[in-house]
Amino acid sequence: MFQTLPAIDARFRYRMRLWFCRAFIVQLLVIGALRLHLGHDEIALFDAAWAVCLFVVLGAIHLLPDNPRVGDALVLLNAAFASASMHLVGVIGVGWVFPTVIASFAISRTSLALGLSTIMLVNAFLFTRFDSVDIQVAFGLSGVLITVLAYVAAIHVQRLRGLLERLATRDPLTDSGNRRAMDEALRAALRSRQPSVLAVLDLDHFKKINDAYGHAVGDRVLRETAAAARLALGDAGELYRLGGEEFVILLRDTERDAAHARLLALTAAVRRDVRLREVQVTCSVGLAGKQAGDDQAAWLARADKAVYRAKALGRDRVVDIDDTPELDAASFCME
Ligand code: GH3
Ligand code: MG
Ligand code: MG
Repeated sequence: MFQTLPAIDARFRYRMRLWFCRAFIVQLLVIGALRLHLGHDEIALFDAAWAVCLFVVLGAIHLLPDNPRVGDALVLLNAAFASASMHLVGVIGVGWVFPTVIASFAISRTSLALGLSTIMLVNAFLFTRFDSVDIQVAFGLSGVLITVLAYVAAIHVQRLRGLLERLATRDPLTDSGNRRAMDEALRAALRSRQPSVLAVLDLDHFKKINDAYGHAVGDRVLRETAAAARLALGDAGELYRLGGEEFVILLRDTERDAAHARLLALTAAVRRDVRLREVQVTCSVGLAGKQAGDDQAAWLARADKAVYRAKALGRDRVVDIDDTPELDAASFCME
């Protein structure tokens, strides 16, 4: 099954939180037991308190697997304990600080991870008992290096994620959303309780434009149509390319009347803004309001049927499937 990038990303962060938490708990229990055995009771108690706090966070991770704030809380908690540990046991506490720095970039927001890592390292550098200055400087330099590397890697991953998201969801010719993005958006609109309207836009006689002016000009018309549609829709609707010269427009949280008016403005914008020398470019739009019990296929089929009626009634118009009666053969205008 296809997974969206945000879903893959959220799963990765959830797993990182989970395993980071588990790994730290195991380490703390092992080290704590050893310290107890060696008679270092105070610090063993500290390790136990830390492990108990992490157990609570582990519960929160299980209860709220999708909540990124739990990751922030985990990083904050661990940074506080790791810093305190360096005060208590000296430079050996670095064993807690460095993994916390690295993991924080994968577990929480980059800005928070960077801020916390800096505070943790400055605090450790200034207030830990180092045996000599060279050890202190070596610690400081290693800390800076690790933070910079983790930060650069996090920024790189962020950029790649943005690019991948774009490649996976945009149509390269028109820069509209592609089918995959449309599927996702329709699923979300169907889940919502708010009214939504789905419209299919089909350019009129597009084949003639291709035949008369060539494919490259046809492509330009597609790009300009998409640009005009986006401008006319503004924030009110989303544009997806269904394929060929057909687009889907989703107007969320919108009633049919408001959608109809918006789509009329859109067809006027295409008529006005997409021009060829002696040809007026027009489009036909069919709209269908979401109905109870609709699934994606049924909703799309009704909008498709509405475009078919718009074509049959003479093209260059907007047809609402629920406002237009079934056509008999005599009223067809398929020229
Ligand atoms: P109607 O008004 O009934 O919709 O007629 P039409 O000519 O627009 O529809 P038809 O389905 O007959 O033709 C669609 C044309 O769109 C045929 C195909 O060559 C062209 N087409 C599909 N994809 C692209 C594309 O990416 N670029 C270009 N330039 N043309 C395309
Ligand atoms: Mg078509
Ligand atoms: Mg067409």
